[in-house]
Amino acid sequence: MLVLEKLEKSYNRGQPGEIQVLRGIDLTIPRGQVTALVAPSGAGKSTLLHIAGLLDTPDAGRVLVNGADLTGAPDRRRTEARRNELGFVYQFHHLLPEFTAEENVILPQLANGVSRAQARERARALLARVGLQDRVTHRPSALSGGEQQRVAFCRALANGPSLLLADEPTGNLDPATSDTVFSVLMDLVRETGLSALIATHNLDLAARMDRVLRLEAGQLTESA
Ligand code: ADP
Ligand code: ADP
Repeated sequence: MLVLEKLEKSYNRGQPGEIQVLRGIDLTIPRGQVTALVAPSGAGKSTLLHIAGLLDTPDAGRVLVNGADLTGAPDRRRTEARRNELGFVYQFHHLLPEFTAEENVILPQLANGVSRAQARERARALLARVGLQDRVTHRPSALSGGEQQRVAFCRALANGPSLLLADEPTGNLDPATSDTVFSVLMDLVRETGLSALIATHNLDLAARMDRVLRLEAGQLTESA
């Protein structure tokens, strides 16, 4: 579960170009809840996701992951939480081009101390779960955009996180593929009981999540 409390963030603080991006963000995502984040470009969506993903720190406020306040935690603790408790998916898959689909899902597990045999088994199970059992030895360049993104979902879930953070996970796909791939993602999230914060411009996809929040003028509002 993720709790964001009274987050504030500015860039160029105290300088002429100061811009206040987050102005008191309060958000709780309970276990199993999937929240959509809808924001016009420049509204601070990436800033919010980076802070929630422990890649950036707020000027004020707190970030709690599974009850632990990690706002000012040492880098080592934050990295550990990123590896174990958080999964990330981006608009572009960022798969390693020289590795196969399977290896891309194995590597984060090896970095986490899982044995190669176990990591391989889990990678195969995840890839089969998203319909890629016949693609495990393909490199990203030999996969379609939708397939690449499905591999990226498997990689994000490789270490069994409890929270998924996604930034336009289907933003680079054509509408039909986007729809299919989003359904695959939602099935995975539901099955694993993950909490998720998924940024999207696609209002139809947002409407299929449990809750839709809009980020505007530095604040979150519930979208009807
Ligand atoms: P979004 O992801 O919604 O497009 P961002 O979080 O990337 O928005 O950025 C929000 C605002 O903060 C934008 O006006 C952007 O130009 C500004 N901004 C983002 N990062 C920086 C930075 N490192 N330095 C200064 N301004 C920034
Ligand atoms: P590692 O040594 O395992 O790569 P990192 O702290 O670099 O440890 O990464 C931990 C997690 O945070 C990874 O899942 C990675 O995808 C994510 N991550 C690291 N840096 C960034 C970044 N600049 N933007 C988005 N995600 C990142």
